[in-house]
Amino acid sequence: MTQSQYKALSVDDAVTYARTIPDFFAQDADLICEEIGDGNLNLVFRIKDSISGKSLIIKQALPYAKVVGESWPLSLDRARIEREALIIQHSHCPDLVPAVLGGDSELAITVMEDLSQYTIMRKGLIEGNVYPGFAEHIGRFIATTLFFTSDLGMNQQHKKTQAASFSNPDLCKITEDLIFSDPYRNSDNNNFTEDIRNETERLWNDPELHFEVALLREKFLTHGEALIHGDLHTGSIFIREESTKVIDPEFAFYGPMGFDLGAVIANLLLNYASQPGWSSDMKTLEARRDWLLSAIRSVWEQFEYRFRTLWNDECQDPVFNSTGYQDFYIRKLLQDSIGFAGCKVIRRIVGLSHVADIDAIADESLRHQAKITALQIGTALIKGGRSAQSIEEVILAAKTAAEKEGVAI
Ligand code: ADP
Ligand code: MG
Repeated sequence: MTQSQYKALSVDDAVTYARTIPDFFAQDADLICEEIGDGNLNLVFRIKDSISGKSLIIKQALPYAKVVGESWPLSLDRARIEREALIIQHSHCPDLVPAVLGGDSELAITVMEDLSQYTIMRKGLIEGNVYPGFAEHIGRFIATTLFFTSDLGMNQQHKKTQAASFSNPDLCKITEDLIFSDPYRNSDNNNFTEDIRNETERLWNDPELHFEVALLREKFLTHGEALIHGDLHTGSIFIREESTKVIDPEFAFYGPMGFDLGAVIANLLLNYASQPGWSSDMKTLEARRDWLLSAIRSVWEQFEYRFRTLWNDECQDPVFNSTGYQDFYIRKLLQDSIGFAGCKVIRRIVGLSHVADIDAIADESLRHQAKITALQIGTALIKGGRSAQSIEEVILAAKTAAEKEGVAI
């Protein structure tokens, strides 16, 4: 099939395709199919054997972004990138990534394990759940997938070839525009409510902030350190109490490692900022916020512990074992992560695409307050990232913003 024969699958087409997956469904199985996607760029079908209950997922990329109609074309090659990234990530962390069962680059399809028994973490956090295994899981996912796709942990010539095959210009441009440009100027793509116009205009007129954003944008554009997930927010994490699965790496490319850590930190902070809108009393609010901040600390600690262990045990390049280099590298990674986290918080408040943690708060004044808190945290992280020495600086930025709230619940 050539690319011009691409067509968006109907529910019946998805069933027909599912039957071609070897050794999965019985030949005469009665298959039922639903389109369950909630994203803006893709179709997601669940195909289930009505008798045995056995099921799989088919995800298909659409040739345009639904959010802005058909006018924003997107390369279908991102489906291949997503599938190949899932396969690589699964090879490094089989318990943390769904298994890929098949796929077709021309149809822009990935067939994978059905994770319907899991909850999307953003929803779980909004409901007030806490996840004791999360920090170890996500710290290990980030450390392992990044280490083994970087110049530290893989053959450096093979890495160059791999980086070329993960060139992802369309999806990178979305990030470059929506995260590293639009929020800092009066762009048509921005999407903010009038009650935060003053705070938003302050972002447009802050040279110190713009300088830091320029440095972070440059890092995103030029630092091909490892195969990053590229969109590691809490909507790309499926979770249960004892298990975590990372999905949706269609933004994967060779980029700066801190971008994935920053995404996780930012989304925990957005939930932190939103908590007065979701917690029923002060005690609950405090407990949930404490958990979120300790999760941020633990994600970093778990990441650092794993990454240093891998480096000490498996580094491919003896020059990188020079005295002091590992400490220097880890500090730079922390600083990048904090800066990227700040950009990712701000884009969800004034940029095109928001998060339910904040926007779904019913009470208008609590919703307003959550946006203000998030903008304060985001700005502090961007300005403070480059000089940060410890993850505690993130915790302090969050607490400082919360102290200014004066929220009565
Ligand atoms: P998008 O890139 O369009 O956001 P996602 O990969 O995030 O696509 O999938 C959108 C939604 O489809 C998810 O939020 C989830 O509800 C569902 N989904 C995706 N992959 C799976 C899976 N492997 N198992 C179960 N549900 C899935
Ligand atoms: Mg998604």
